[in-house]
Amino acid sequence: MTVALAERPHHDYPATDLGVPVGTPTFAMVDGTVTTATSGVGVYPGSGGRCGNTVIIEGVDTVRYTYCHLSAVTVTTGESVAAGQQVGLTGGQPGAPGAGNTTGPHLHLSMRGSGRTLCPQPLMLSILLGSPINPLAAPSSGCISGQPNTNWAAWLDQRITQ
Ligand SMILES: [Zn+2]
Repeated sequence: MTVALAERPHHDYPATDLGVPVGTPTFAMVDGTVTTATSGVGVYPGSGGRCGNTVIIEGVDTVRYTYCHLSAVTVTTGESVAAGQQVGLTGGQPGAPGAGNTTGPHLHLSMRGSGRTLCPQPLMLSILLGSPINPLAAPSSGCISGQPNTNWAAWLDQRITQ
């Protein structure tokens, strides 16, 4: 995953859509418990809803991580996962079983904590750069298309030098 991908804003609410080929391994962001692992979803519309095959992880950090449009799910509900553990394969090919509502292959990732939807971009970028932030420090704005977008690299730099 490139830094540019990690910084992209989302179309309509705080989240991210990573444009990656179908079958790209996807991993738990933090230690946690799988609370939803939905596989075998059929073709959208009519089966599985917008998210398609879904993995939801309740992190030990109290943040809920939701992965959508998966072409394969490799964890089960109730399972404990460790940061970096594979949870599935990306999907999102329109019309494919489990893809949900999608316009092309991608991973949808959203985060919710402290009653807020959080921008995943600064967490992903900080993981890529080798020093993960506290996910609850992520803001709820600055990651939506059509609104002022945050330069996340500069945002991270500012946190370090403050
Ligand atoms: Zn999305």
